[in-house]
Amino acid sequence: MFLSQLPPDVIQPVLEALPMPVFFKDRAGIYRGCNLAFTTLLGLCPADVVGKSVFDLSPPDLAQVYFEADEALMSAGQDQRYESQVQTPSGQRLDVIFYKSVLRDTEGQVSGLVGTILDITERKRMEQQLAEMATRDPLTGLMNRRAILSHLERLHADRRSQRQPLCLLMCDVDHFKSINDRHGHAVGDEVLTQVAQVLRQHLRDGDQVGRIGGEEFLVVLQSTEPEQLAQVGERLRQVVASHPLMSLDTTFSVTLSIGAVRSLRADEDWASVVSRADQALYVAKRTGRDRVVMADSEPPRQLLHKDWHKQL
Ligand code: GH3
Ligand code: MG
Ligand code: MG
Repeated sequence: MFLSQLPPDVIQPVLEALPMPVFFKDRAGIYRGCNLAFTTLLGLCPADVVGKSVFDLSPPDLAQVYFEADEALMSAGQDQRYESQVQTPSGQRLDVIFYKSVLRDTEGQVSGLVGTILDITERKRMEQQLAEMATRDPLTGLMNRRAILSHLERLHADRRSQRQPLCLLMCDVDHFKSINDRHGHAVGDEVLTQVAQVLRQHLRDGDQVGRIGGEEFLVVLQSTEPEQLAQVGERLRQVVASHPLMSLDTTFSVTLSIGAVRSLRADEDWASVVSRADQALYVAKRTGRDRVVMADSEPPRQLLHKDWHKQL
């Protein structure tokens, strides 16, 4: 029996009192009733709803989703829960969860469905914000350490299966401590932010950069030939060195030391590749800073399978 077949004075006040939108449809997917919360949500009046299908009431893309879900539900004859969207009269799309169950006639045959809608737009927004906070460095807006290393780990797995090289640039601002010491931490922060911007602006599509430590940035490059790797590193070194950075009416210039590595060995762990970039960076520092140093193409044997993850 449909809810609409119950005496209206029994069921309708109950439905109207519910703050959640409720609707019910027959076996053909035609709306047979709803409550005030439902018509308010969609900006309709009850007469606009009863006798209509989802294609009459909703934009085609959403209607198709609802239609397919209804069909699946009524074929399976069970309950259903899925995330989707609804469009409000202003055109805004809300993130929602639909909960639906089949209705059965006195013979136990599926005769329709009843559904309700939970608005989860705010929850989704907060989830997105949290995900953003978990992966972004708040100072520079770049990927944080965890995010860039996860990206590296994923790319390493892909590269390995495609037998393609993994290329990294480990970049460290030279003598950064003296900027903090002379001009204060806030100026240091601003300089770091601007270095991050310059790096981001001068990367190629598909290359990724993250802030891996205080004044250290890790660039993970798309597949690159050896000469190209040195060129990309050199270009980044030059643009940072020649880019005037401004803070508190003072112009700064900073330089980068860069360790570059290109790993071709399928048996080299991604953490070993990072470690080799670090070592090349250390050589760049030791030999005068403001330069790019390429790591050897082959990793030392003892690095290959060493468990570096805990240190990264
Ligand atoms: P080197 O050329 O050898 O890299 O010298 P350096 O001074 O850059 O390196 P060092 O490791 O001695 O100092 C790094 C400094 O970076 C020290 C630390 O206070 C500063 N630092 C780290 N994180 C931040 C930050 O978020 N903001 C600011 N303003 N300073 C930071
Ligand atoms: Mg430094
Ligand atoms: Mg450093």
